[in-house]
Amino acid sequence: MTLGQDETANDPQIIYIAGAGRSGSTILDRALGAAEGVASFNEMHVILTPEYLDRQICSCGVDRDDCPFWRDVLGALADRYDLEAMTQLSHRFDTSAMMLALLTGWMSRVTRRDLDLYACFVADLYREIAKRAKVGTIIDSSKIPTRALLLKRYAGLRVHAIHLVRDPRAVAASWLRKKKDPGLEGQAMQRYPLNRTLLVWAFRQVASEALRIRMPYMRVRYEDFAKSPRGIVEHIVKEAGQQGSPNTGFVNEFEVDLPTIHSLSGNPDRFETGVTAIRIDDKWKASKPSIGVWRLLLWPLTVRYGY
Ligand SMILES: [Zn+2]
Repeated sequence: MTLGQDETANDPQIIYIAGAGRSGSTILDRALGAAEGVASFNEMHVILTPEYLDRQICSCGVDRDDCPFWRDVLGALADRYDLEAMTQLSHRFDTSAMMLALLTGWMSRVTRRDLDLYACFVADLYREIAKRAKVGTIIDSSKIPTRALLLKRYAGLRVHAIHLVRDPRAVAASWLRKKKDPGLEGQAMQRYPLNRTLLVWAFRQVASEALRIRMPYMRVRYEDFAKSPRGIVEHIVKEAGQQGSPNTGFVNEFEVDLPTIHSLSGNPDRFETGVTAIRIDDKWKASKPSIGVWRLLLWPLTVRYGY
């Protein structure tokens, strides 16, 4: 039995945003994290990944090693775990290649033993984060569907999956665009070609849909969220179990008061604080992107999602 299954009474619940990158997950994550009793952390699967962290800045404005929040969280865990070994396990299990194994549980006994150890660590990591942030709900927008399975099925945490979907033409245009990340000292963010982006988009939608087999699931279109951000956030928070009228941090339908957070990865929106307006990003329409044969290949999914 994992530690996660042992201590469920004190465990935080996780609202997990799954889907493709550049679907608007950072701003949805931030908007949800402004609610009372909730904290936003963006892409939590990179907390242990040194190739990101060695050059990244916490969204509170300092390096991770100088941030008191992460110093306390990781310091407490370093007393109980070999963080280097956990980083290696993160590389093994936080990857889309593990999707089928994590969904079905079909794996060797040795792999299952390593997975249980990593899941035990992850459960303790989220408990430590919730305790230090003084919240009962954590927003994790790692987007990889396998991470949601790890948290729910193997770490034993309470997870609500939010499958965030956005028009694939907008996603492709965003990955082609030059964008700078203040967390990478102003370096350009990664760009990907059209074919790769659309293949990943399709896989992530199918894999995110599969999460409903294992956990509470809700699908949200980015375009609907941008049209009614307050309404969508209230709906998600209520579905995740908050009773009564949730205090969401919205000051009107479109503006939300974003608190300072301790996020180690995500797009530049993770540095925004104060009252921030949420507006639909449809700049991609001006470039009239053509996705060629992909229009046919993605047709079953785009019809399903109303694109
Ligand atoms: Zn910080």
